[in-house]
Amino acid sequence: MSLANSGIMYLMAKSILVANWKNHPSSIDEVRILLSQMAKKGVLYKKLSLFIAPPLPYFESVKTRAKTFSSLASQDIFVAPGASSYTSQVTPDILKSFGVKLSIIGHSERRALGESSVDVSKKVRAAISAGIIALVCVGESSRDKDGLYYETLRDQIKASLADLNDKKDVAKVMVAYEPVWAIGKGAEAIDPTDLSQSVIFIRKVLTDMFGRELAQKVSILYGGSVDASNAPTLVEKTGIKGFLVGRASLKAKDFRPIAEALIAK
Ligand code: PEP
Repeated sequence: MSLANSGIMYLMAKSILVANWKNHPSSIDEVRILLSQMAKKGVLYKKLSLFIAPPLPYFESVKTRAKTFSSLASQDIFVAPGASSYTSQVTPDILKSFGVKLSIIGHSERRALGESSVDVSKKVRAAISAGIIALVCVGESSRDKDGLYYETLRDQIKASLADLNDKKDVAKVMVAYEPVWAIGKGAEAIDPTDLSQSVIFIRKVLTDMFGRELAQKVSILYGGSVDASNAPTLVEKTGIKGFLVGRASLKAKDFRPIAEALIAK
């Protein structure tokens, strides 16, 4: 195993917490305050694999101020032939050179902008080729009583992981189950029993695609309105390895209990 691969495997061994800052905080001063508050609990965060995915202009600040207790992540990755000639885009190699360890790929907010699972599959492959963990987001927009949403999930997983160079590369992928209806302001997090069933289903699809041994290596995270009040119940017996957190990652006092819930697991 190469050194780069062993580093990736180390990061995937502990419980995983990913902070998706999206386009927040609204100023670099607020970033500095948030990071200095988080740093006070650095010892706690070191018990997990914590990834922070900030807006690109904040990369340097996060990298410097949070390097002792977190790894840098990107909210997306760009892939296209001749990628150097696309104004505003950031390629896997640039992310890698900056120390990015994980890329969120196929977030529902990107899929809503037209990103397809085929696009996602190319990004997954490119991330892995650059030595970056691919955190692939999947999730249904709504639920129906006949369980048809499971088909959506299956189709997304299959198409998003269809372009791996080698089946074994699936060990460098994590799946974030993020039902779209559970994300964002006003939404409610999923019921733990429903989450368990979705995790079993995702694992089954992965097993059908890659075989049991490889499928077991894929960490499944949950994202969607995770906060201090629901994190402890959501980690219990649902089979998840961690969380992808949006809003609650923007305040140190809201984020810390989520980390504690994962550590207590
Ligand atoms: C997200 O958008 O990935 C997310 C999980 O957001 P929130 O935690 O705010 O629901």
